[in-house]
Amino acid sequence: MRSQTDALRLRFLGAAGTVTGSRTLVEAAGRRILVDCGLFQGWKTLRLRNWAPFPVEPASIDAVVLTHAHIDHSGYLPLLIRNGFRGAVHATTATRDLCGVLLPDSGRIHERDADFANQKGFSKHAPALPLFTEAEGERALDAFRTTGFERTVELAPGIELVFHCAGHILGAASATLRVAGRKIVFSGDLGRSNCPVMRAPDPVREADLLVVESTYGDRLHDPADPEDALADVVNRTVARGGTVLIPAFAVGRTQIILYYLDRLRRAGRIPAVPVVMDSPMAIDATGIFRRHGDDHRLDAATCATVCGSARLVRTAEESKRLDQQSEPMILISASGMATGGRVLHHLAHFAPDPRHTLLFAGYQAPGTRGERIVRGETSIKLHGAMVPIRAEVESLDMLSAHADADEILSWLRWFERPPAMTFVNHGEPAAADCLRVRIRDELGWRVRVADQGEIFDA
Ligand SMILES: [Zn+2]
Repeated sequence: MRSQTDALRLRFLGAAGTVTGSRTLVEAAGRRILVDCGLFQGWKTLRLRNWAPFPVEPASIDAVVLTHAHIDHSGYLPLLIRNGFRGAVHATTATRDLCGVLLPDSGRIHERDADFANQKGFSKHAPALPLFTEAEGERALDAFRTTGFERTVELAPGIELVFHCAGHILGAASATLRVAGRKIVFSGDLGRSNCPVMRAPDPVREADLLVVESTYGDRLHDPADPEDALADVVNRTVARGGTVLIPAFAVGRTQIILYYLDRLRRAGRIPAVPVVMDSPMAIDATGIFRRHGDDHRLDAATCATVCGSARLVRTAEESKRLDQQSEPMILISASGMATGGRVLHHLAHFAPDPRHTLLFAGYQAPGTRGERIVRGETSIKLHGAMVPIRAEVESLDMLSAHADADEILSWLRWFERPPAMTFVNHGEPAAADCLRVRIRDELGWRVRVADQGEIFDA
């Protein structure tokens, strides 16, 4: 029998039965380690959870481990800190650098949305308050402690952390926690095995407990060549005098889209229409991408060409002027799931006109505007007003940053022995269950789907 000090508890506080709000608490050796600290996104019932008190006292958490910078993994940090968390946030250097862009930007969007709601009076709350502010987003960065892949970091006496490259976005990691003589592995979001821009996920070979994501647990990516698919969309849109609007954050999908567009243009396969990156963060993001050459596959020269191939738009006035331009262009603007940011005013302008195309290049969480549009809704609410969707809508999921079900299974096959228990999280219920069945039947492992709030004692 294990002694009291060997007791180990997992608590699933988010990304259980859904893809957002990633947070799993590990309690062991008298400590509390929170793995990921994400915001819930999508359906209103999920978003309301962001306003609820955190399920455990934030001051009682000793450290946070961040697998990557996306807001659904990092965006609750400013609130955790506001509510009393005083420990360190452990992340890779690239993750910290990206959070330096993302967290203040997210705060700025929350502030702007609250201001807008107050001006127009369409909030049910008077006055509407931001979830957190830009200043709180910036302050969160002070808590970060950075490390590289495959280095051992002591989080607390008797608790060690190692990050492994997960390939999903710059700096994205799987994480191994060594505690009480056991290894707990979190896959984090896994990337593609064959992306020309991002590295493939590194193998992890040992786990006593494993938590694996299942975003695409029930799907395989379209095997069509993404370059061909992108060329088709651009050519038919430009032929009818339209603009291709791509909701995407300045880092992540953007570099791979720019990489393909640059190749297509050089090969003369698409017309030389302007590529515009409408993002005040684009310069920072490009700098981060160039600085972290080891985290991706582009050599310095290609990286410089790809990152320099778009016209960068920084000011809000310039951004609004883009909507008055009648010539076709390829316009990349945040946010990727159209949950906020400048892409909203572009959507209001381009969505009602059938000449244009709305091109989605990443996972769209259910309930987000992006997912509603991809699902075929014919009108969408933007800043309190309904806007009709008459533009062509395309979703090229082969451009996704997520491993598909076969790629997740391949990554699991690297483990040299079955974990005592595997938990499937970070997926919609159908995706999570489909992956569970495949893990049980194809690998013969003990596996279950994590439930929101579930407590597991090992
Ligand atoms: Zn992610």
